[in-house]
Formats: sequence, structure tokens, C-alpha cells
Amino acid sequence: VFSNVARAPEDPILGVTVAYNKDPSPVKINLGVGAYRTEEGKPLVLDVVRRAELQLVNDQTRVKEYIPIVGLADFNKLSAKLILGGDSPAIKENRVATIQCLSGTGSLRVGAEFLTKHYHQNVIYIPKPTWGNHPKVFNLAGLSVEYFRYYDPTTRGLDFQGLIEDLGAAPSGAIVLLHACAHNPTGVDPTPEQWEQIRQLIRSKSLLPFFDSAYQGFASGSLDTDAQSVRMFVADGGECLIAQSYAKNMGLYGERVGALSIVCKSADVASKVESQVKLVVRPMYSSPPIHGASIVATILKSRERNRTPGDWSHIIKQIGMFTFTGLNTEQVAFMTKEHHIYMTSDGRISMAGLSSKTVPHLADAIHAAVAR
Ligand code: PMP
Repeated sequence: VFSNVARAPEDPILGVTVAYNKDPSPVKINLGVGAYRTEEGKPLVLDVVRRAELQLVNDQTRVKEYIPIVGLADFNKLSAKLILGGDSPAIKENRVATIQCLSGTGSLRVGAEFLTKHYHQNVIYIPKPTWGNHPKVFNLAGLSVEYFRYYDPTTRGLDFQGLIEDLGAAPSGAIVLLHACAHNPTGVDPTPEQWEQIRQLIRSKSLLPFFDSAYQGFASGSLDTDAQSVRMFVADGGECLIAQSYAKNMGLYGERVGALSIVCKSADVASKVESQVKLVVRPMYSSPPIHGASIVATILKSRERNRTPGDWSHIIKQIGMFTFTGLNTEQVAFMTKEHHIYMTSDGRISMAGLSSKTVPHLADAIHAAVAR
């Protein structure tokens, strides 16, 4: 009965790796897939991920039960905080419905399925060009895909004029797919001023922003700066959707871990929206996998744990072999006595005395000294 099935073409991105694997040449280089590689070209697992996994494996209380349809509660909370900021009023007001999904793609798809069922407009504008899977994900979810101008090949920069014209001509209520940062494939992002103009246009036309955040941490080196575009749209009190992927920034590609957040006008709306997203997920894959989200939650929690009071950016800014920590004599004495860390009483530490293994011990000791 399947003899008439035609052969489908390889995926244009994943197909590059298929072709690469077939090539027997010793000088071959794969520049197709966006994935960390070691100097030898081998896949790389980040140290933080290995450490989190060890911690999880050693925890005998952990079981393999199904997790809820919406995923791990801790993971969802920490993901919303990562993209919206720890002090986001939208989070405090419980206006954000966050659902653990299957990486970035799954988050986009679940968001699109929800919009098809519950949003009054089914047109989505996506940048030209964009990640090749976007039009397919949205089309198959039942949305109608249109393009807005984004890249100008003559300047190899943003076609801001074209972008504003095309979004200006979009029908009221249309959904707009925006790359939160590090636009794929162009690597061209709007400036903060341009983002502000885009925001004003989107809000004035009641368009609905749908952010794809697959590269938080890759654009400016700061997780917070990379989330500025999204946070601008959340700060104005309006609605938006956000699809987060941990494939790239935690190197968790195959774990398929991501989150969909839907920012609503009130806590009541957010809880109703969440109840409907559950109805999208249940017949699709029932509930998400536990392992990848546990890794992310473990890592993000340890990042939360310290939050040592004060600004510590001087540790990175100061040059030379030493850091003048700003710790006072009493704090230094405390760290030596209680935490066995030795330094001069003026708070100077030799960075050369640290290793990646001992940094967490120092960070905990500084935290204890400062938080006393
Ligand atoms: N959006 C963009 C812009 C991407 O580049 C990618 C990964 N290439 C994704 C989403 C989704 O990837 P994943 O499903 O692996 O998280």
C-alpha cells in the first residue's frame, strides 16, 4: 500500500550533516550544523551539564515517574525568570503561563497550535530570510505564513525601512515572529532604538509578537542584554509569546528541552491559557521528558542560589594576575577561618591560584562572608 509514496528530499539543514557523514575525505569540514565542537571537531558536553548530571544520578530520591503535562514546575519558573528577568512584574503578577516543551521547535509548534485554536488572526509574519523550519512549523499548525523584509544584501545589514513598511502593512492582529537575538541565519539584529520603533509599531497595530529565543547568551555575552528585546515588549504590559531553546546555550540539543511562555494581561487569563495549552500537548506527546529539564533546573537553581549582594563585575574588569575583591579584613579573616581560603588581608586574590573546580568553593565562601 505504500509503494506509491514518493521519496522526500533531505531536510536542507540536517541534510548537510547526512552528506558530510557520507564523504570519506580526511579534510572534510562540517560548517552546516550549529553545535559546539571541540578543537578536534568532536561533540562537546559543557562542564556544568556534566556536573548537573552527576548530581542528578547520585540523587537516590529521583524517580522516573511521568511529570505533569506542563513539565517541571521549577524548570518553568526558572525559564521564565531567565528570559524575563528575576524582578519581572509579569512573573510576580502570575501573568505568565510557562510550559516545558520539546526544545525550541516544540515550543514554537505548541504556541502555534494554541494560536490556531484560540487567537482571532491566523496570519503570521516571519522575517525574510529566517530559520528554514519556521514556515513549515507554522504552516502545519494551521497558520498562514507571510514574510516581512529583514535583510538587505547590499548593506549586509538590517533592511529596517522594509521591515517597518511590511509590518506597517500587515493586517491588524497579525502574529509577528521575531528572533529575540542573534538572528538566524543573518546574524543581524535591530539596535535597541530600532527595537523600540518596532515595538511601538507592533503595539499601535495590535500585532502579536511571538519571540523565538534560541540563542540567549550568544549575542552580547550577557543573558540579560540578550533578553532586552523581549523584556521591552513585556514591560509595556502587552501580550506576547516566547519560545525558548536550551539546545545551543546549554549544548543540550538531543535532550530536547525548551519552554513556551505566554505573557497575558492577568493571572486569571494566564491560568485559562495554560489549561488550553495542556489540551494541545496531551494528545500530541502527553507530557515532556524529565532528564533535560532536570539538568537545566539544576544549573539555573545553582545560579540563583548565590546571588551574592553587590556588584562583582570588577572581577572580570580588573586586569593583571590579581583581583582586588573589595572584601574587608574581617571578611577575609572569616573566609580563612571558616572556609580555609587564604589571601592577603586587603582582600587581594591571585586568580592564578584558582581552578574551575575551586571557583564554586570560593564563590560560596565570598557569599557567606558578604551575607553575614
Ligand atoms: N529557532 C531558531 C532560530 C533556531 O536556529 C533553532 C535551532 N537551529 C531553533 C529555533 C530550534 O532548535 P531546537 O528545536 O533544537 O531547540
